[in-house]
Order: sequence, then C-alpha cells, then structure tokens
Amino acid sequence: MQQSNYHSHCTFCDGRSHPEDFLKFAISQGFRAYGFSSHSPLPFETFWNMSKEDMVEYLQEIDRLKNKYSDLIEVYAGLEIDYLDQTYNPSIPYFQELPLDYRIGSVHFLPLSDRLEENNMVCIDGPYAEYAGAVDALFDGDIRKLVKRFYESTMQMVEAGGFDIVGHMDKIYQNGYRYPGFSFEADWYQEPFLACLDLIAQKGIMVEINTKNMTRKQQSFPHVQYYSLLKELGIPVMVNSDCHFPDLVNDGRKEAFSLLKEAGFKTTRELIAGKWQDVKLDIIT
Ligand SMILES: [Zn+2]
Ligand SMILES: [Zn+2]
Repeated sequence: MQQSNYHSHCTFCDGRSHPEDFLKFAISQGFRAYGFSSHSPLPFETFWNMSKEDMVEYLQEIDRLKNKYSDLIEVYAGLEIDYLDQTYNPSIPYFQELPLDYRIGSVHFLPLSDRLEENNMVCIDGPYAEYAGAVDALFDGDIRKLVKRFYESTMQMVEAGGFDIVGHMDKIYQNGYRYPGFSFEADWYQEPFLACLDLIAQKGIMVEINTKNMTRKQQSFPHVQYYSLLKELGIPVMVNSDCHFPDLVNDGRKEAFSLLKEAGFKTTRELIAGKWQDVKLDIIT
C-alpha cells in the first residue's frame, strides 16, 4: 500500500503543529513521501489561510526539512490554492511563479460579487449552522442553487488550470447532505458533478481521495459511490488525509485503499523523485 500523503496543513496556516511534527509522525508510520500544502494566501486575511508575508519562510522551512530528512523520506512543497474567481486562483502568475513541487486546487469560498473580501464570501467548509444560514439568506433556502454555484466554480477552476490535483472535489456535500432537499441522485446534483468529472478527465488532472472525515464521519471526498466512475473515466487518484493534527497523518488511508481496490483501481499516482507516476496497488498491509 502506498505510504504517502500530499495534502496536509501545519502552523503556517490552520494546522495545529509545526511542519516537523507532521514529518516525524509520517516517518514513524513508515511513510515514503510527505507533502505540505498550506492554505494559500488570499486577497484578505482569514483564520485558515497563510499570509503572503510568510511564503518565503514556509518554502525555506520545507527546504530545510527536505535536506534534514532526505535519508528517511521524500519531502515536497505544495500549496492548497483557493479558486475564488477568474482573477484569483491557481493559474495566476503569483502561484505559478512560486517554486512548488505541486499544487492542489480547492473551492472553499464562493464570492457573492467581484469584491474579494471576506465579508463577501460564502464559506462552504465552516460549521453547519453557518452553511445553512447562507443557503437560507443568500440562496433562497434552495440547496440546489448553492450546489449549482459550487460546481460552476469547480468547472471554472478546472478550465483555468494551473494545478495538479483537485482538492476534496465534492466538499459541498459535507454540510449539504444535512440541508432539506439535498440529493445525490437528483439530476440537479448529478449533472454538474458529472460535467466536472468529464472536464477533469479531459484535462488529465488528478483527483485526490480525501480522507479527512473518513474515520469520524465515514465520508470521503469524492463520495465513495463515485470511485468506480473515477476509474471508468481514467482519472488518476491518490489518497490524502488533509490532516491538521500530526496524529491524523495516516487517518483513513487503509480504508480508502481497500475501497479503491474494490472499485477496480489497479494503481494510484505517486510523486517519486519529483515526478508523478502510477504505482501498482499491492496487498493491503
Ligand atoms: Zn481544503
Ligand atoms: Zn486542506
């Protein structure tokens, strides 16, 4: 089974420990590769995102760890970059010019207009009460409208490109499935979701299997019911824990690999010596 994680947070953003603590835990679990992917700087300050001023130090710290632990583990510098709109996303020169090993593109915020300020954003990743409040107040109490808006942003992000991996591609259901009227089966959900997957396949971008909620809520992103479809479409995947605490580095990984095998996956993508490669799925250990 692949011993790696490419989606992780640390004290440079909202992760709860220093980068080295995550790395030490990964090494203790026998990991081969570990990637840091702090929440990208935004045009406004949030509790979650790193600030632009810290970027040099972030890259230096990962470089230091790369060298210090080079005999034990491959260390990579990534970033989880927010797609806000066409003016601020992974494809813009600022993110393209950073010396990163890879980039994750994620949608957490939906701007209500072209004013990129925090009070003009709908955050889809916060507590349920806030999410439901936003659907009530800003989307006419109609979950279909929020889902539509979320996948429109995802489509635009994939179209704009500039990243390697789609982060938690159906995160909208984490809170959404609790809102009255939500349905995975309805056409209004299926159509935009499948259109995104088609575009991702066409562009040859990878999709992560995000296990952040696997143990706690039995959820993964994408939802487990879509693994076989990812396989059918030939979309390359890897398993990432999106950990914010060192002891969760390995959380949900084994289960995700079992489910991928059941869905027919024979390989997952791995960053080896700086190149993404397909690695055979072997016996679950
Ligand atoms: Zn995220
Ligand atoms: Zn994340």
